[in-house]
Amino acid sequence: MAFVLNTYPITYRSKFSAGKWSEEYFEKPHKTPEEEAAMSAGELAKLQNSRNCYDDMPLVNYSSQYGLSCFEGLKALPQKNGGLAIFRPRQNAARFARSMEGLYMPPFPEETFLQAVKETVKRNAALGFKVDYDSNWEKDSYMTASSVYIRPFTVAEGGIGVNLSSEPYVFVINTPVSAYFSGGNSDAVVTDKIRATPNGTGWIKACSNYVISAIAKSQAIKAGYMECVYLDAIHQKYIEEGSSCNIFFYLKSGELVTPELGDTILPGITRESIIELARDKGVNVSERQISIDEALEEAKECFVTGTAAGATPLTSLTYLGRKVEFNDGKVGEFTSDIRDTIKGIQYGKLPDTKGWLVQVL
Ligand SMILES: *Cc1c(COP(=O)(O)O)cnc(C)c1O
Repeated sequence: MAFVLNTYPITYRSKFSAGKWSEEYFEKPHKTPEEEAAMSAGELAKLQNSRNCYDDMPLVNYSSQYGLSCFEGLKALPQKNGGLAIFRPRQNAARFARSMEGLYMPPFPEETFLQAVKETVKRNAALGFKVDYDSNWEKDSYMTASSVYIRPFTVAEGGIGVNLSSEPYVFVINTPVSAYFSGGNSDAVVTDKIRATPNGTGWIKACSNYVISAIAKSQAIKAGYMECVYLDAIHQKYIEEGSSCNIFFYLKSGELVTPELGDTILPGITRESIIELARDKGVNVSERQISIDEALEEAKECFVTGTAAGATPLTSLTYLGRKVEFNDGKVGEFTSDIRDTIKGIQYGKLPDTKGWLVQVL
């Protein structure tokens, strides 16, 4: 399953018009989850397509023509004690508003975002579309765990001239998701593609940033890697991010380093959470520049973080044809400990002492 579009029936749409956000929920065509599971692939694809279509949406718009849009990604996680909880949704609400402002759109109100995100999950669950907790997930620290992925995104109003969006739509859809990186290979390669440039949109969760990401990642996969890592645009020297995730290096000195935020780094909520959890464990965490040379020489462990990726170890990094293995190619002690901590909190196995979870069911 990994990360396949299998939209749940209830979707949300809002539209900014005459200074106000309208709201509506759709119940798209569906059967029961059990009936859908028994359908042929072809029938299911047709049903899925009908859920993904809105016949009153403008096909020609500033998003479809010029990539003017942004999105969020968050998860409703099945809890060990039952129900579903969303991880730090207020952070996503705030970032979504910042992204929209960064694209010169009217920002979507944070309380409306929170409500829409919770409500879609609740209403889908009421139709039987949800993910249940499976205690088998505990055996591999939730590496194979599933959850409900929530995807809020903007769509610009109709138009053909290059323009800003002053009356965007905001949608929220839900889709189930399992592990982001399929097992096996977790080798990464440094790409010569540039994800983000100074004074650009790298700090915004903008759809357009993903064009280069998708190209670079597919090149990496073709060359036999799982992931690619970007260097900075100016010097091609300092580490920036993975293809759609933040990156951390645990150095031999015991220092945990992640690139400092600037306008070319996406301020990940998982990144921020890992920094806090590591500091709680007494680890010396630095948000600073780290060159590719320092990373290759000094790092004992390396991992990437994001809502989809969780905290996923990179077992090697190849730069200009030279492959450097971290921790002899095995998942390191620090990486597995921090991953256990964040996953444990997210799935309700460890106490949520920071109030990071918002229970929806
Ligand atoms: C979404 C995203 C991340 C991770 O952010 P989280 O809030 O942790 O999910 C990292 N890098 C990029 C480029 C992203 O778009």
